[in-house]
Amino acid sequence: MTLLETLLGLVDERTVLEASAFAVGTSLSAILYFIHRRYDSKAKVVEDVPIFDINSDFTTLVKEAPFSTLPYVAINGKVSTLTAPLHSQANPSTVGVFLKKTTTEHKDVWGKYTHVWQNEDREVTAISDSIPFDLQGLSSHPLVRVVDPMQSAWFEECAEVVNEEFVPSHTSTVESIVGFVSGERLKGYTQTEKMLRLGTKLCAIGEVVYEDNMLKIKPPASNFGEYILSKFRKGEIVSQMRSKSKIWKLLAVLMGAASLTALYFIMRRLHGKYVIAQDERRLAEELEEVRNQRTVQSGQLNRDDARNTNQGPCVVCLTNPRECVILNCGHICICVDCLEALPTPKECPLCRSRVVRTVPLFHA
Ligand SMILES: [Zn+2]
Ligand SMILES: [Zn+2]
Repeated sequence: MTLLETLLGLVDERTVLEASAFAVGTSLSAILYFIHRRYDSKAKVVEDVPIFDINSDFTTLVKEAPFSTLPYVAINGKVSTLTAPLHSQANPSTVGVFLKKTTTEHKDVWGKYTHVWQNEDREVTAISDSIPFDLQGLSSHPLVRVVDPMQSAWFEECAEVVNEEFVPSHTSTVESIVGFVSGERLKGYTQTEKMLRLGTKLCAIGEVVYEDNMLKIKPPASNFGEYILSKFRKGEIVSQMRSKSKIWKLLAVLMGAASLTALYFIMRRLHGKYVIAQDERRLAEELEEVRNQRTVQSGQLNRDDARNTNQGPCVVCLTNPRECVILNCGHICICVDCLEALPTPKECPLCRSRVVRTVPLFHA
């Protein structure tokens, strides 16, 4: 039996299963690490982006740039608009450029498995409205028009809650009973108004151009970076992105560690099996040797007289003489035939310790 055959003999269903789990774990870890690297490089891009205040110097800078374009820059400014602003429905004096009204339904639902009433919230409607708006610096001129704000995944976070109202549902006794039986009780609705108010300080990161006699900031060409509109300052945006990236890295490291631990246990188990297989091989050779010794000794020892020897016959067949020493326990209790017939991994019939080796017994 070659070494390769021995190794292949060790591979069983469990090993295949464990190896697959290891492969999946390793790939997952690699994917998580890849996501981490992407977030990290995004954060790096934002960190390196030049930042400008909105003033006449900035206008000159953009006008004189090639194609009157700065491909990826950050600007700080206050939200303003040249058209009539949007009014909050609940507080008409609150004005802004983006308004989102959501209605959330609150229900008590009977848990089929938990057997308790559980609160369940569900957004049932969402309506939003927006008007063109600009960012301005300290003075009312120049303005930078914000183009396609909804293209920025960060935009809705800029809006703040300006009104929140809970409207309880009025249910009759009959409806209450029906609700109790059906396992669903409506508690009411929350109406929320979120608004990007005039005067909110924003940081906008994107492509700035001078066209149609005005400054505009718009989604950048995709190879430059993300279009960001945020209430946070640039430094805070970077640290938010970094902490996201760190979570992915942590997940990647944990997954990698789990895979390596699994690999360690697979290897340890296979090594154990390998050692046993080697022992079995040597044992077979040694048994052969003992058998040869038996032929040599047969003249001196009458096998039928085995019962009369001091040590008695083999403890398994109770017929043949005890012919070999079991190692490592050292018991002399068995004949070659019975030792050979023991199921693998072979165990000493007296003490159950594993038969690692055997040596022939010589009668003086
Ligand atoms: Zn025997
Ligand atoms: Zn023993």
